[in-house]
Amino acid sequence: MTELWERTAADLASLVASKQVSAAEVAESCIARTNEVEGDVLSYLTLTPEAARAKAAGVDAAVAAGEPLGPLAGVPMALKDIICTEGIRSTAASKILDTYIPPYSATVAQRLYDAGGVLLGKTNLDEFAMGSSTENSAYQVTRNPWDLSKVPGGSSGGSAAAVAAGQAPFSIGTDTGGSIRQPAALCGVVGLKPTYGLVPRYGLIAFASSLDQAGPITRDVRDAALVLGAIAGLDPKDSTSLPGPVPDYMGALDKGVEGLKIGVVKEISGEGVNPAVQTRFREAVQILEKLGAQVGEVSLPTFGYGIDIYYLIAPAEASSNLARFDGVRYGLRIDGADVENMNRNSRAAGFGPEVKRRIMLGTYSLSSGYYDAYYLKAQKARTLIARDFARAYEQFDLLVSPSAPTTAFGIGEITDPLTMYLSDICTVPSSLAGAAAISVPAGLSADDGLPVGIQFMAKPLDETTMLSAAYAFEQELGLLPKPPLWSPS
Ligand code: GLN
Repeated sequence: MTELWERTAADLASLVASKQVSAAEVAESCIARTNEVEGDVLSYLTLTPEAARAKAAGVDAAVAAGEPLGPLAGVPMALKDIICTEGIRSTAASKILDTYIPPYSATVAQRLYDAGGVLLGKTNLDEFAMGSSTENSAYQVTRNPWDLSKVPGGSSGGSAAAVAAGQAPFSIGTDTGGSIRQPAALCGVVGLKPTYGLVPRYGLIAFASSLDQAGPITRDVRDAALVLGAIAGLDPKDSTSLPGPVPDYMGALDKGVEGLKIGVVKEISGEGVNPAVQTRFREAVQILEKLGAQVGEVSLPTFGYGIDIYYLIAPAEASSNLARFDGVRYGLRIDGADVENMNRNSRAAGFGPEVKRRIMLGTYSLSSGYYDAYYLKAQKARTLIARDFARAYEQFDLLVSPSAPTTAFGIGEITDPLTMYLSDICTVPSSLAGAAAISVPAGLSADDGLPVGIQFMAKPLDETTMLSAAYAFEQELGLLPKPPLWSPS
């Protein structure tokens, strides 16, 4: 018998709404499943079972009273711990925020609560979302449910692992340069990075403000459409939030790919990508052709500079955003002889090595004398990437590539930061262009049996075309087998 924790968010919402199961039963199933595997996977930094039970009881009361229900009523969820949640510790996986309890909830969290979502807990990440393996968390290393000796990817590794391990039907991650898509690919789940500005950033602990976006991590494309519909849309509290109606993402799923023009991006699909990943990716492209898409290759020369550009812009913005952690206003304070020493001591003790590296890189590239040579040049090159995208979209409706150059790598295997940074070669270009992208499972690598993802990239605000293509692809390929950890013990 299928357990409730195995069901998708869309299924659970309809089971609860039609009174076939109670929200309380759903919550208990996910809480029990979480307890069963959390010791192996370590997805969560904070668990909130009591809050989940109280919320589920509220949903059940609403069902009993015949009140109107939100689209996610009674559906359990996990939120990346970089998303502020009122009254619930939110650390960004940093010691500097070890005891931080936000006085308000991020818009994304609030919208999910309002939709009826039941919060199970806050998931692990690389400290301040800086990393590609979740090994930069100040607390714990999350393990990949497919192979516990491997990383889940990052920075939203806890969110991806929780969904892959059956702990939560969906989670929310954030993506600055790939942190939703890359862990989704490595854990064999779906991860969607919305167009910049579609999902409000209010209440996300900022890393690089011109890039950060929250988005869903789910077990199938339909759930990605469902959750995106619940979190998208204008928020007056975020000045970069986009106006305009939120499309009916679920309603557009069935449009298919017939007649769509799909471009394979040469620069991020061949050299530099592991051969076994390339093989699965090529088969995925054949599936799209079989479904009636017109596939061609496209060369976008500036994509080759994506990593260089990203690692100037993101650290520059981070160095500015993280200046607020000064021992005065937030979190950890280590006293010193005077304010400056207190400030220095607090930051020295509170930030981990990767965060310090980024602050130094960013401060350097923003400093006078280097600003023009580095930061300004990177901004100009960023414009070229957006132009390359625009040129490609004159010919193609969607672009595709592998989601990541490798499958999940071993915990502790990559020690050099520059090699780690290369994990994002496939994902940073659409981040820099502010465009939408989704990673969908494309099968298992013949080398190591681990999941491979295909990335669909769309024009800004064309999530509907992207989701319908991803859905058609998923329907044709079928869902992945479940990870070994899935089988009930
Ligand atoms: N891995 C990339 C980095 O370390 C991207 C992180 C992210 O998207 N938050 O910056």
